[in-house]
Amino acid sequence: MSSRQTIRDIRTRVFHVPLEEPMQDARHGLQTFYELVTAEIETSDGRTGVGYTYTIGTGGHATKAMIDHDLSPMLVGHDADDIDTLYDEMQSRLHYVGRGGIASFAISAVDIALWDLRGLRQDLPLWKMAGGAGNSPLTYRGGVDLNYPLEKLVESVAGYLAQGYRAIKIKVGKPDLAEDVARLRAIRELIGPSAKLMVDGNFGYDLERATAAAQAFEPFDLTWFEEPMEPDDFEGYGRLASATFVPLAQGENLHTLQEFKHAFAHSSLGFIQPDASNCGGVTGFLRVAKLAEELGIPVCSHGMQELHISLVPAVPNAGWLEVHAFQIDRCTHRPLVVENGRAIAPDEPGTGVRFDWAMLEAYAVG
Ligand SMILES: [Mg+2]
Repeated sequence: MSSRQTIRDIRTRVFHVPLEEPMQDARHGLQTFYELVTAEIETSDGRTGVGYTYTIGTGGHATKAMIDHDLSPMLVGHDADDIDTLYDEMQSRLHYVGRGGIASFAISAVDIALWDLRGLRQDLPLWKMAGGAGNSPLTYRGGVDLNYPLEKLVESVAGYLAQGYRAIKIKVGKPDLAEDVARLRAIRELIGPSAKLMVDGNFGYDLERATAAAQAFEPFDLTWFEEPMEPDDFEGYGRLASATFVPLAQGENLHTLQEFKHAFAHSSLGFIQPDASNCGGVTGFLRVAKLAEELGIPVCSHGMQELHISLVPAVPNAGWLEVHAFQIDRCTHRPLVVENGRAIAPDEPGTGVRFDWAMLEAYAVG
């Protein structure tokens, strides 16, 4: 281990990155861009680590402000490699005003930068630092496609198959359940019986409707039904799980370790899907993964595939890597490549996420 690397400066930026086309799920309306918030941490040994988070369109400026005004002053002057201590201090400092909200996004961005610095200093890639169990996760393509007419939905999934995917997720939550069933039937027919198929409800259902939907979806051999209901209705998930044999999944809207503990205790989940951009970065993701490991629950991911590609396969209870429709990887120098249903984590030191800053500059808003 080399000498101390003291945090000297933290620089933050906000970008509004346009989507290739408008997207819609059951809950969040039509989306035309995502927000990317970056945090570059410079240390006394001359290194710069890059962390980031993203939002679905709101909160980016508040996240940046929280890093600038509340986290930077407490971090500057400290050893960047003392990650667990700094992580717990950040959580304590922001708990009263921001527990689980903007604070989780701000802490995540900083934590990812600290892990990047650790990798640069130790000359290790993230997948090795995160456990090293593997570097090639099973990968699925998640569409944000509830607004697509059936013909366009089929066309988009055919495109995913052509790109090498062997597992597909589509959105559900149409006002008429029969329409969701018709869409699932068409997609199962297209991808064949051996490909994996998941659905995502984006908490558009109440328990009664979710139960009816899950039971109507049973013939399509689903790998999971994601976020059927409000993410913190932990007991509701438990009741739904007892009414269907379709496995349940969630995690993208759980932002504190305590929320994950509640979900593990009450929700009978088949899969957990933490997102390092909002559950506390690499540190938060690995703490959730550890809890899941003790319960034998596979760890999947949500969004930011360019980072999760190194986290999902690294743990012994690896599940599925989501390739999300917000393709942040396209703003990096290493866009994801999937072959025969798997992607391969980068071997370069640090997180392996190197932004194309020249490309991003056109989208800068702060
Ligand atoms: Mg989802």
